[in-house]
Amino acid sequence: MGKRIVIALGGNAIKQPEEEGKAEEQLKNIQNTAEEIKKIVKAGHEVVITHGNGPQVGSLLIQQEAAKEEVPAMPLDVCGSQTQGQIGYMIQQALREKLEQVEIDNSVISVITQVLVDEDDEAFKNPAKPVGPFYGEKHAKKMIEKKDEDWIEDAGRGWRKVVPSPIPKGILEIDAIKSLVKTGAIVIASGGGGIPVIKHEDGTYQGVEAVIDKDRAGEQLAEEIEADIFMVLTEVPYAALNFNTPEQKNLNVTKVSEMKKYLQEGHFADGSMGPKVESALEFVENGGQKAIITSLDNGLKALNKNNGTIIIPDNCEEFDSSKGYEETLAASNF
Ligand code: ADP
Ligand code: MG
Repeated sequence: MGKRIVIALGGNAIKQPEEEGKAEEQLKNIQNTAEEIKKIVKAGHEVVITHGNGPQVGSLLIQQEAAKEEVPAMPLDVCGSQTQGQIGYMIQQALREKLEQVEIDNSVISVITQVLVDEDDEAFKNPAKPVGPFYGEKHAKKMIEKKDEDWIEDAGRGWRKVVPSPIPKGILEIDAIKSLVKTGAIVIASGGGGIPVIKHEDGTYQGVEAVIDKDRAGEQLAEEIEADIFMVLTEVPYAALNFNTPEQKNLNVTKVSEMKKYLQEGHFADGSMGPKVESALEFVENGGQKAIITSLDNGLKALNKNNGTIIIPDNCEEFDSSKGYEETLAASNF
């Protein structure tokens, strides 16, 4: 039976680390990504897509800075909306093309998404998320003094502006997203973690200089559209214990309480695997059937249970860890 799945695409779905980020390069990556998503749609699932935007918004910020004497520079929230448009456009085109090839005629549509954050979120006191390019110390100091911005020296590689990364509280366009999903459309939403906005007491909204973690925003989206499965597609096929050491152990089917223990033991790095595992746990604890963390090309296999990290509720009877993995899979129906 088809499931409703929110797929959160990582950076490598759109831009490879060694690439400059030319439009053709990004489109080519997105075409490969669309090929994988097509398989999931073809298997009968209802798919909602979200994605990161780090490199794209970084490039746009460079363009704002370079051209500001000629045309006004746009702030981060506006740049965020622009990247939702540019990435959404490429996914719409690429996925539509792939689906037409297998005679699936569902619409693919992006929704510019604003995500509500709390003005009093602790993150606003401690900006920690780097955005945009590296600069020299002189530029950084000038921005700190003149614009009251926050900058950090990033591991000897130069100076970078940092902004807060608040927790997502709600998706303003959620009703529209739900309606679109009901029509069978494949919706792309909350790109780049969504555009963070605050609501003032007088009812007005304001975009803020912040970045919401795309995995946390994806989890929020998955909860709000009542998805069955939250799937995070990244660079690695598994979340692992003792990652990148000779003792590395890839995690397959794992219960919430077990995963929580591993999280507390510090197996998942802050800013990369950490937020993915936390979001996956939150989804399953709030009633989701399961969360999956795997690589792009393993997405469908993970849905068929024989690949990737699959986080399931503690009370999931079907999973008997005393049995072998294959045996469990054969018997299970989660
Ligand atoms: P994305 O762009 O997809 O959001 P990130 O680079 O933020 O991806 O996070 C994925 C990366 O997390 C992996 O490529 C890996 O290098 C790193 N990572 C950190 N800890 C772990 C772990 N315990 N298991 C697997 N990968 C890990
Ligand atoms: Mg990455």
